[in-house]
Amino acid sequence: MSCEIFGPREKNRERMAPKNSTTAEAENTYLTKTSTNGRNTERPPLQIVWLNVYLITALHGMALYGLYILPRTKPWTWVWMGVCFILGGAGITIGAHRLWSHRSFKATWSLRLFLMLMNCMSAQNDIFEWVRDHRVHHKYSETDADPHNAKRGFFFSHVGWLMVRKHPDVRTKGKQIDMSDLYADNIVMFQRRHYKPLTIIFNIILPTLVPWYFWNEALWNSFFVCFAFRYAYLLNVTWSVNSFAHIWGSRPYDEAISPSQNLVANLGTLGEGYHNFHHCFPQDYATSELGTYINLSKFFIDCFALVGLAYDLKTTSKEAVLQRRRRTGDLRNQKH
Ligand SMILES: [Zn+2]
Ligand SMILES: [Zn+2]
Repeated sequence: MSCEIFGPREKNRERMAPKNSTTAEAENTYLTKTSTNGRNTERPPLQIVWLNVYLITALHGMALYGLYILPRTKPWTWVWMGVCFILGGAGITIGAHRLWSHRSFKATWSLRLFLMLMNCMSAQNDIFEWVRDHRVHHKYSETDADPHNAKRGFFFSHVGWLMVRKHPDVRTKGKQIDMSDLYADNIVMFQRRHYKPLTIIFNIILPTLVPWYFWNEALWNSFFVCFAFRYAYLLNVTWSVNSFAHIWGSRPYDEAISPSQNLVANLGTLGEGYHNFHHCFPQDYATSELGTYINLSKFFIDCFALVGLAYDLKTTSKEAVLQRRRRTGDLRNQKH
């Protein structure tokens, strides 16, 4: 799962001119030599993006303060924080990930609009950017073209990749990813054009104002709990899929790849921790064969499907799963 906390600078310029972004691309990239074919080669020296380091550190400082004052806030503020966490999380897992990155189901325009707005609540870059990073991640996992290559260690795959300029391979391979479906989606492109104001409204203003307006919570409390703490927590659970679930856990479907089944990553991400399964069957809307077991995203998609907002849900047959386990997974050495 991929995400960026504070959008790369090339974004604005690339929005309306997707094929002519070379100047801007250099900005967020290592400026020295380029490696090829997505393979791990000798890497250019790290170039730290200090602004991101400061912003990420400041956010986590504010989040710790939010955690400290949490017991003093009103119970309804906790409830609202949880609601914002789940809605923002859904904008990532159901929206950016399962719908837009993998096309694992289809959604009516009203559901896409809702998911787009909820995606703004999680502020992990606009959907277009998120999807491109994520498709590159799947195609070139554990190579230099993978934005959060877990072979570079836990810290890099968790948050460090957001603090340095991207490896040139990420940019090169990213440009080759087919994004035509996203360009054709008006809701995605609308979000890309108006990302900053939308994110400020849905990630900061709305979570902060609701407790103040409806149950007289102090604005100060509301800001640090419902924005800072909730946002930092959501970022970390999202990042845990790139770090924890690419380093630790079981690999029943393919033992040769790094993505693994990881309960830690699964708990906070509404069901994105079945990562060995997901990398083997990325088109499966459930990202797991375990039904709704710790998989709130699947439950929500099922509910959307019940009322006709989601349709054409893609799943993987039990036979295909079994075949994969026999070929590359935990049943490899068993006689058929
Ligand atoms: Zn994925
Ligand atoms: Zn992954």
